[in-house]
This record gives sequence, structure tokens and C-alpha cells, in this order.
Amino acid sequence: MPLDLSRSKALFEASQRVIPGGVNSPVRAFRAVGGTPPFIARGSGCLLYDVDGNAYIDYCLSWGPLILGHAHPEVVAALQEAATRGTSFGAPTELELRMAEKVIECLPSVEVVRMVNSGTEATMSAIRLARAYTGRTKVIKFIGCYHGHHDAMLVRAGSGATDLGVPDSPGVPAAAAAETISVHYNDLAGVEAVFRQFGEQIAAVIVEPVAANMGLVLPEPGFLEGLRRITREYGALLIFDEVLTGWRVAYGGAQAYYGVDPDLTTLGKVIGGGLPVGAYGGKREIMALVAPSGPVYQAGTLSGNPLAMTAGLTTLEVLGRPGNFERVVALTERLVRGLNQVLEELELPYRARSVGTLFGLFFTPERVVDYATALTADTRLFSRYHHAMLKRGIYLAPSQFEAGFMSLAHTEAEIDATVAAAAEALREVRG
Ligand code: PLP
Repeated sequence: MPLDLSRSKALFEASQRVIPGGVNSPVRAFRAVGGTPPFIARGSGCLLYDVDGNAYIDYCLSWGPLILGHAHPEVVAALQEAATRGTSFGAPTELELRMAEKVIECLPSVEVVRMVNSGTEATMSAIRLARAYTGRTKVIKFIGCYHGHHDAMLVRAGSGATDLGVPDSPGVPAAAAAETISVHYNDLAGVEAVFRQFGEQIAAVIVEPVAANMGLVLPEPGFLEGLRRITREYGALLIFDEVLTGWRVAYGGAQAYYGVDPDLTTLGKVIGGGLPVGAYGGKREIMALVAPSGPVYQAGTLSGNPLAMTAGLTTLEVLGRPGNFERVVALTERLVRGLNQVLEELELPYRARSVGTLFGLFFTPERVVDYATALTADTRLFSRYHHAMLKRGIYLAPSQFEAGFMSLAHTEAEIDATVAAAAEALREVRG
């Protein structure tokens, strides 16, 4: 039985007349897999309900933030209480202090932290700060890593070893893009070559310590350590973009998991518990340059607002209770084990993998280590799989090049139902 999405379809058509592409963030439009995106009416625990009355086990979780699941009762209660006291003051609050202390307690590399309103703002501000601190302008990013949509980070993923400054989007001035140098993920030799050529001009290397915006791609042993060594050698800063990996790869982020100490860290998603949030922080000496303690200007009307701080603090508190984070990891591993068993039984040459509470499954027999190998995946097979899962009540991110997310609200029963659905779906779509 195909899904009935008639009401979603009507809303999508109406939305397309008044919102670009009908959505407020491009991936939501389902362009990569085709079809109509279900319009969501509500979420509860690990379940999403659309306006057509369909229910789905959610592995997208608002693209990562909802590590406790939808509408966690303690988060909802804390938010209701906070809202009665006022939603924004534009003046300092104790909640912001508690949040800063919490971040610093969880991430040992962070000594001082500034809250912002999105991951994009966080990386934009961290890069400005790195440029100010070093007095240099160039930034190295990795092809296939996403750091938000500001000019410096929207640079094309090239096919050579490096791709010097070609804008990825109309509207990005070539001059802005020219300061960004793209290198293949996991290509330490490529990074070294760029430093040999431009070393004195490079302000920072920004990296997703686990790449999760081209599907899930893990750092090869030594890659992150190598970045640390090279940046130190040349006096550039190392920025870990942990917007997605913070409180997901480990409670202390990928930096705790891999034991690498970045100069600056950018955060978002989980730290806001489902409300708009971002943060950047790092070594005291560098953060001292941020206004008003220093001259690097950065501000925000709603930064550190009480609702986002409350949702974030409550989420981190619940997640930090003994056994909770470990449980989300165990559920993720159970799902990956189940999926791999199914793939083996069906003699399909693909394997799922996970790190912490993130998982991924590429439809390619190749070992995926960077964007080029990620692109060998069979995206048409993924589209068929996505729709076959959706109609069985499993909501996956609508692209082969996105990670999967687990929450504390999932249970073994839902994981096992998901594995059973995947077995049926793969049988149906394998061709
Ligand atoms: N950095 C990373 C690693 C991300 O995954 C994202 C968003 O997915 C961002 C930055 C941008 O965050 P936001 O969408 O909150 O602007």
C-alpha cells in the first residue's frame, strides 16, 4: 500500500507558492529522493506524526538535536516554566552562566564560550576570530564537510587534490571564496602540501572531526592528530566543528572520543535541545579577543535566550545521567548490527557503521573515506530504499549523504522493527 500523503501534498503545493521550494531549509524538500515530504503535525518520543495520520520511527530527529526524542517531558516542563518568566531579556542571565559552565565541564578544550543562534553563526564567528588572532586570511576546509551557509564555507567540492576558491553558490563573491582552500577529507598529505605553499597565510583548518554531512565518514587513524600537529607547526588554529558531533560521538564530543585538543570548537544542535542555538569557544587567550573583552565584533539579539538555554541545559542534564548516553550508543550499535546481518543475508556488498549515536549506510561496496568515495554510492537505490522505508513507517534523512541519528526515546522493539522493515525494503528495491 503506498503512503497516503494527500494532505501533505496540498500543503507542499501551497507552500511552494510562498516559500522558496516550499521549505525553510533545502534538504527538507526531498529533492534528493523525490516525492512529497510528509508535513509533520507533531512528534512524541521516537515517533513523528504527519498531517495525513501516518506515524514514523524517526532517525532524523530534526537533523540531530533531539537526542532525548521529541517533546521529552522534562524538556517540555522546563520550557513551560521558563516561558512564564519571559522569553528574552537582552540582558545577562544566570542560565547563560550555567550553560557556559556546562560546556566547559564537558569539553576540556573549551575554557571560554560564547552562545549564538545557529551552527552557521558559530562557524562564521570562529573563523573571524581565527583570522583576527593569527592576522591571516586563508582557511582550509574539507570537501564534503558542511559548516553552514556563510560565504567563506560555501566553496565547491573539487575533484583535484585541492580546489582553490571557487564559489559553490551564486552570490558568494569570488574574493570571499578565494580565501578558502578545499582539501579531501582524510588527506593529510594534501593538507601538508597546502601548508607548504600557503603556510604563512593560513589562519585555520576547520574540520568536522567525524564527517557527517556527506553520509557518515570517520577520520582515519592519525588524521585528526596530524591536523593538530601541522596547524601547531605553522601557527594556524585548529577548529573542530562539533555542531553535529557534540554530545553525539561522545558526551564530550569527538574531541573527547579521539583525544585531540582543538584551539576552537563550534557547537549547535544537541546543546539547544531542539531550540535554535549555536556556540563557539576555546582557549582563553583566543576567546579574549571577542567583544567586549576584545576587538572582534560579534553579537546577537536572541543569543543565550532563556528558552534555548533551558532546553539545552535540561537535555544535557538528562543525557548526562548515569547510563543514558551509553544506552543511546548501545541502541545505535544494535541497529547497525541488525542492518549488517540483513545485508549479509541478502548478499548485498554494503555495510552500515556507527560512531557514538550516529550511524550511516552507503550503498557502495567501496570503503568510503572522503567525498569522492562517498559519491560512488548508488543514489537511485538509496531513493528507492528511502521510500520503501517511509511507507513502512521508518523516517530516514532524505539523502544518501546524510547521517542517521538515534535518541534515548528509541527502544529495542523499535530498533528490531526497523531492522525487519529494512530487510523487507531491501528485498523490494534491490532490483
Ligand atoms: N556545522 C555542521 C557540522 C553542521 O552539521 C551544520 C548543520 O547541519 C552546521 C554547521 C550549520 O548549523 P545550522 O544549520 O544550525 O546553521
